[in-house]
Amino acid sequence: MLLHAGRGSLATHMDNTTILIVVAAVLLGGVGLFFFLRARNAGPKVEPYFHFNCPGCRRKLRYRARQAGHSGMCPRCNNPCVFPAVPKG
Ligand SMILES: [Zn+2]
Repeated sequence: MLLHAGRGSLATHMDNTTILIVVAAVLLGGVGLFFFLRARNAGPKVEPYFHFNCPGCRRKLRYRARQAGHSGMCPRCNNPCVFPAVPKG
């Protein structure tokens, strides 16, 4: 009876430890994956897009913030244009 109870307790303890390790590993892995994905998403900074109308064909062109003030070319009419400065905001 006593021996049986002791064995049972030991087995339960081991089971709990194993479960705890598995749960901890899964949690750590999940948290690690979460931060890894977050870091990956935040890594390449998402730049906002701006729009302006091509002076040649009035086509609405899209350009990135870092292109503001730089010259570009309209993909439709090949008209060289300068992307206007970034609008406030
Ligand atoms: Zn154009």
